[in-house]
Amino acid sequence: MRFTFFNDFLALVFPQTCAVCRSSLFDFEELICRSCQVQLPFTTYHQRPDNNDLALKVMGLTRVGRVMAFLRYSKKGVSQRLLHQLKYRNQPEMGVLLGKMYGHELARNGYKDTWDGIFAIPLHPAKQKRRGYNQSMMFAEGLSSVLDSPVRDSLLRTKFTSTQTNKSRMERIANVEHVFSLVTGTDLKNKKLLLVDDVMTTGATLAAAANVLLEAGAEQVDLAVIAAGK
Ligand SMILES: [Zn+2]
Repeated sequence: MRFTFFNDFLALVFPQTCAVCRSSLFDFEELICRSCQVQLPFTTYHQRPDNNDLALKVMGLTRVGRVMAFLRYSKKGVSQRLLHQLKYRNQPEMGVLLGKMYGHELARNGYKDTWDGIFAIPLHPAKQKRRGYNQSMMFAEGLSSVLDSPVRDSLLRTKFTSTQTNKSRMERIANVEHVFSLVTGTDLKNKKLLLVDDVMTTGATLAAAANVLLEAGAEQVDLAVIAAGK
């Protein structure tokens, strides 16, 4: 994390404001005020994890487990604003907060002892170095702290991929082939795993990584993202 000292200085001079409504935060509030926290655009995908539009997207790309998203995505909407803070405003703690919030929601819905481990979609090492952290790993850390399931870091991104944004579905699927691998000797036999990312658009990236985990013997790989994409 860069500019930590500078951020501390800013926090002293300017009070922290809510990432959604910009009102000043109370001391007991973190990043998002209480009233915005309860009004986020939540999905109910975890209540029908094998029957939602995200599950349909990855069908045919990987052996589908549960597919879930914390928030709905809308362009220029709340989830986009939060993701922007997380990815481009040097706010890794936003990812941890969203992971904790979703972890509590999942725990309330009976998911507490579901997973043997949580994987995050890795960034290419050069990109992670530039950003200072992996936003999806921050989400995984938050989930892990609530669900008591360890974060695993043995999934690697071995190839740099150009942005997926302007690619067709077929191009995206080809673009992420052979991008992920596991640290040699990683044993996932009979493990039930949760694989997380920040956004799912076509599902090609998550499916490619899920297939690597399944090929290493995982019994089931469920997917969870901060926000469902278009
Ligand atoms: Zn607010």
